[in-house]
Amino acid sequence: MDGGNELIRRAAANPQVLQWHTWASLTPGPSLVILGAVHGNETCGAHAIVRAIDDLQHGRLLLRRGRLTLVPIANPLAFGTNTREGERNLNRRFVPRAEPQDYEDRITRQLAPLLATHDALLDLHSFHTPGDPFAMVGPRNNQGTREPFKRAQEEGELARALGVNQVVEGWLDVYDSAAHARGDTQDDEGIGTNEYMRSQGGYAVTIECGQHEDPAAIRVAERAIRGALALLGMADVPAPSRFAGRAARLKDVFLRESLADELAGDWHSFDVVKAGDLIARRADGSELRAPYDGSVLFPHPEADVGQEWFYLAEPS
Ligand SMILES: [Zn+2]
Repeated sequence: MDGGNELIRRAAANPQVLQWHTWASLTPGPSLVILGAVHGNETCGAHAIVRAIDDLQHGRLLLRRGRLTLVPIANPLAFGTNTREGERNLNRRFVPRAEPQDYEDRITRQLAPLLATHDALLDLHSFHTPGDPFAMVGPRNNQGTREPFKRAQEEGELARALGVNQVVEGWLDVYDSAAHARGDTQDDEGIGTNEYMRSQGGYAVTIECGQHEDPAAIRVAERAIRGALALLGMADVPAPSRFAGRAARLKDVFLRESLADELAGDWHSFDVVKAGDLIARRADGSELRAPYDGSVLFPHPEADVGQEWFYLAEPS
């Protein structure tokens, strides 16, 4: 087919070398970096990005202003084996270290400074269970110590420009409480690419484009790239239709405490629950009921013991 597959093959050929492509317009404007395959088995972003690279190289897509960096495969080791991780999850402890301890530390040492030279990050992912695509943003503007932030407005606009109709906000607080419940006190654990980007003065949106193997996820990722370029005035491309969807704010996370803990339904992300609805049962028979009207997010029926089992979110 197109040159995309060949570009992918070359980008994944050597897991010891990262590849990215930058176009810099002489007309000033925003700088945007787009990541694919931070998780190696989430390939839609890589496919969408190499198509954009091909379009830029052949003049079918023109950068009007600013600077655009495309990283088709952020984790080539994991991509090559079609697994989520190489030696560990690249989207945790994404903080550059003087003495890298593992493969993902070595990637982070290259990617973190690259991200820091851009205003905005678009991170393209996919998910395990069926469901509709959604975008994730970080905290609201705040001057706290954990994740101080000033660019929630721009971040929200980017999330709503990507052609998906569901936005989830807030993650680090909820993740931190899960980590503490696990007895995990490493503060960097919850820092992924997006949190790092915000820590460097930028803003970041993750888009979950669909189920891992679904070819439609590639089209969702391509539409998201065009949506970001259109919003930022970086290319003359048609913008996806306006966001008319729902926003949810993550509020609670539940860990699986026993392999006999069972979800009470075939939950999908964004399934609506009313206060009092039965969501799951613990091994001892005790019931977990929704404490408020909201929705279930990221259910993982087969989560390992001590891992995130499902999240609850409030309408936002
Ligand atoms: Zn992912």
